[in-house]
Amino acid sequence: MNRLYFDHASTTKLDARVLKQMMPYLENNYGNANSTHFFGRQAVKGLDEARELVASLIGAKFGEVYFTSGGTECDNWALCGLLKGENKGRLVISSIEHSAMLNTAKSLENNGTQVFYVKPDKNGFINAFDFNEKVDKNTVCALMLANNEIGTIQPVREVALLAKQKGAIIYSDAVQAMPALNVNAYDLGVDMLGFSAHKFNGPKGVGCAFIKNGVKIAPYISGGHQERSLRGGTSNVAGAIGLAYALKYTRESLEKDANYVADLRNDFIDKVLSQIPNARLNGSKDNRLPNNANIMFEGINGDALLYQLDINGVSASLGAACSAGSIEPSHVLKEIGLTDSQAFSSLRFTFGKDNTQSEIDFAVTILKDCVLKLRNK
Ligand SMILES: *Cc1c(COP(=O)(O)O)cnc(C)c1O
Repeated sequence: MNRLYFDHASTTKLDARVLKQMMPYLENNYGNANSTHFFGRQAVKGLDEARELVASLIGAKFGEVYFTSGGTECDNWALCGLLKGENKGRLVISSIEHSAMLNTAKSLENNGTQVFYVKPDKNGFINAFDFNEKVDKNTVCALMLANNEIGTIQPVREVALLAKQKGAIIYSDAVQAMPALNVNAYDLGVDMLGFSAHKFNGPKGVGCAFIKNGVKIAPYISGGHQERSLRGGTSNVAGAIGLAYALKYTRESLEKDANYVADLRNDFIDKVLSQIPNARLNGSKDNRLPNNANIMFEGINGDALLYQLDINGVSASLGAACSAGSIEPSHVLKEIGLTDSQAFSSLRFTFGKDNTQSEIDFAVTILKDCVLKLRNK
């Protein structure tokens, strides 16, 4: 069966060019970057090359780039490390963050940190002034650049500007934004940024944090002197190279790919909304990631629909991949005003540059059939 992959927000396929860049560090240049001998020096060369490349791509300095194990680690590190390092006692965070953020915030809250949650409007946007109202100089702010379920792009720049005026610190989870937007750390004005390679055709298990010079952060994983003594553990050189080149290739065709994917996505939404009764787009049409469509099919059990699509070769998602198997409705959809049952009736389709128009047309036909079948049961 021809399988259609419409779940690019959960992960993407490794780019063959990226694998090629990684191979020397998986085969012959296997040294530990902490060793001073020849093999170690080769590893350092790779690590330096990766750091240099990432720094130039996101407008950061070489020493402001830190490699991690992924987006989840960046999120955990940011919240725990910044509160501790900057000696702040208060966290202001949007209520539609990824679970890596919200669950970390919850555990901090249980340990005595004051946490304030800022709600989005019904289109899925956080208002910068609402956010700012909760901020004081004792605050670490956290606002994702783009939402992983409904794709809405948040006013991080405005929130950062206001936060800095108050002497607060700000982190942004840019995991979903990085594949589609030309993110520049200094333009955004944040103190810290986190992203993950596997969301833009890089390898899994490697992420990256931008931490602005002068910002104080406590290690989250303590150990040796890797990553300026802020993140222990033998360096994943092949992973760092993979992340750096994946970002480079992503940037090289960013606009072209974004336009192509947005056209597919728009066509998908138009066809689904016009051909399937009682279907509705969740989240805003504007300021949305080019690849995201999150659609509610009134009266349908999302789980059952997902299953029907899967047996017909269409891979979509109930929301965040991390919440698959969860019996809770999506917190993001609930925050934008959906009822539990509407949230359970919603599916996320996230497209990629390898998808084609004929795949879209095929998926719409299948989707229409499945929805009608489930409604007539
Ligand atoms: C995928 C994702 C993460 C987690 O990244 P991993 O590298 O898979 O740990 C965090 N935040 C957002 C917004 C994501 O989409």
